[in-house]
Amino acid sequence: MQTILVTGGAGYVGSHCCKAFARAGYRVVVYDNLYRGWRDLVKWGDLIEGDLLDADAVGRAVAAVKPDVVAHFAALTYVGESVSDPGQYYANNSLGAFNVLEAMRANGCSKFIFSSTAATYGVPKQVPIPEDHPQWPINPYGWSKLMVERMLADYATAYGFTFAALRYFNAAGADPDGEAGERHEPETHVIPLAIEGSLRDDYRFTIFGDDFDTRDGTCVRDYVHVTDLGEAHRLAAEHLLAGGAGGFFNLGTGEGATVKEIADAIERVTGRKLPRTIGPRRAGDPPVLIASNTRAREILGWTPTHSSIDEIVATANAWRLKEGERRG
Ligand code: UDP
Repeated sequence: MQTILVTGGAGYVGSHCCKAFARAGYRVVVYDNLYRGWRDLVKWGDLIEGDLLDADAVGRAVAAVKPDVVAHFAALTYVGESVSDPGQYYANNSLGAFNVLEAMRANGCSKFIFSSTAATYGVPKQVPIPEDHPQWPINPYGWSKLMVERMLADYATAYGFTFAALRYFNAAGADPDGEAGERHEPETHVIPLAIEGSLRDDYRFTIFGDDFDTRDGTCVRDYVHVTDLGEAHRLAAEHLLAGGAGGFFNLGTGEGATVKEIADAIERVTGRKLPRTIGPRRAGDPPVLIASNTRAREILGWTPTHSSIDEIVATANAWRLKEGERRG
């Protein structure tokens, strides 16, 4: 049985990927400090509680687990917070990844799957965005991730690492079996917030700008179901273990939905009304972000199968209702 060490396996994307790895027959071990992760989302493997910034602890975990592949998710992900407190982002996201890479090097591990982001592109000059599009992030979050991509390229050249850096577009939805889902505190993402707006009288959903140059004036994003992300990571592990060359891959559907279309889908799928207010644009929001996913399709053999807006919304809504029961 092959082993995957999953940093950040108690988080949103990490937990869904643990499920995909476990179902494919891998032994999964999670390394997480539970700072923004959740113990009850670690369901598909053992948990080692530890911090990425504790290089000795990371080294001990890698030496004990002897992973065939490391899948690295642990990171901070709030764009706004990265602007007001960049130090936290460069520490956790860039230095944290460096500590993992060094621990791998010291223990003879060289296969790495990295949770990267479309935020490394900044404002795109071209959509759909291909992987060789220039990368010039517009916030410290994007830079903190891009630095890791750079390290990976250099570790591959110098130390024989192979890696799959997976640039997610808008991760969304929840496990169709209701075993995992999004639990951010605070929540900033459009789908959970719009669902909230359809459930509560004391929260009103705001559309951030309706004067963009798009089909209905609201921003277009490429929403990809987190279960499809899980499948992409499983395929990436298989690819690296089979001796594949790896590289950089966009994970998106190649299609986009507007914020208004998301709001309409929530009304259609849940049967509830979603009152909305039009607010000002949010700083740093490009009008359209859509992936070219040809590389993931051709090299990894990935096909998103759960990423229709209706399935994303239906699973996110089911998870939210279940979370409501948990919160009481
Ligand atoms: N958005 C919105 N209202 C909200 C939250 C987000 O209109 O309450 C918009 C946001 O401006 C962007 C899209 O929804 O165009 C997706 O935002 P999100 O924060 O979910 O993901 P991002 O694209 O920033 O990674």
